[in-house]
Amino acid sequence: MQLYNTLSAKEREKLIEEAGQDRLTISFYKYAHIGNPQILRNHLFLTWDEMDVLGRIYVAFEGVNAQLSVPAENFNAFKSHLDSISFLENVRLNIAIEQDNKSFLKLKVKVRDKIVADGLNDNTFDVTNKGIHVGAEQFNELIEDPDTVLVDMRNHYESEIGHFKNAITPDVDTFRDSLDIIEQDLSEHKEDKKLVMYCTGGIRCEKASAYYKHKGFKNVYQLEGGIIEYTRQVRAQNLENKFLGKNFVFDHRRGERISEDVISHCHQCGKPCDTHVNCANEACHLLFIQCAECAAAMDNCCSTECQEIHGLPYEEQKELRKGKGASNKIFKKGRSPVLKYKK
Ligand SMILES: [Zn+2]
Ligand SMILES: [Zn+2]
Repeated sequence: MQLYNTLSAKEREKLIEEAGQDRLTISFYKYAHIGNPQILRNHLFLTWDEMDVLGRIYVAFEGVNAQLSVPAENFNAFKSHLDSISFLENVRLNIAIEQDNKSFLKLKVKVRDKIVADGLNDNTFDVTNKGIHVGAEQFNELIEDPDTVLVDMRNHYESEIGHFKNAITPDVDTFRDSLDIIEQDLSEHKEDKKLVMYCTGGIRCEKASAYYKHKGFKNVYQLEGGIIEYTRQVRAQNLENKFLGKNFVFDHRRGERISEDVISHCHQCGKPCDTHVNCANEACHLLFIQCAECAAAMDNCCSTECQEIHGLPYEEQKELRKGKGASNKIFKKGRSPVLKYKK
């Protein structure tokens, strides 16, 4: 029984190109009590590998969080399989706005302690006492209310390229950090203000809303399905779009454009730009915003130091990395003193 990937990303890329068929980028999550995450993990891997599904999936005792790419022709089979698992029957699927056949190149199904690394001790509060879920139309009304405080529950590099008008965007590296900062900032308004929150696909707000209610906030709302589902509803129902810029996503696309506004800047020259890249020096891999001109001038690197290393023969680069661990596997969160224009 093959329980893990046998193809490299490069081999997979070639296969996708040769197949020439369309793929759908999809995400979903569900909180539920999973008796044996390892058994579910193996079942999902075996079934989805057969269907040529790719992506990153976390399975935990508390549920499943999945970001996937499914061949369009296998979508119905994939959906039927989800519906055959009782707690995933009719789960809401967030379908990506911009499709990219290479959004994922491997199938990774991992057992984790939690489906989102939220840093919370769930035994200290009632995780089922969540905020009121609102759709796009109600959300648009709510965020015009002068008694509303709108909070972006994502990290700094996500809200930097796109967020809702008038949202508070905490300058944080982790979800856990934002919880405390927001609570402190709004501590005077736990009863008189409406706390409205949103994130990429809704999953972070599921815990955050319950946490804030536990902390004494009386009026807590969350955007159902996050920015992805909001955008779908805005387009389907012809509503006013109040999201500016790009929605950061965690696959090879890095972001999907929601409005034409470019609200961020190239971290190297400061001109308007909202294209995230990873430094081409494999030992660095820093995530940052880089315009096409700077990319050309810097050979897709974040600094002259990385440019020099990147310019060395591959074997020499490998030699330099020896003993330093797999630093290219660490997701560096877009902060570095070499970036002149990063706040
Ligand atoms: Zn630039
Ligand atoms: Zn670099």
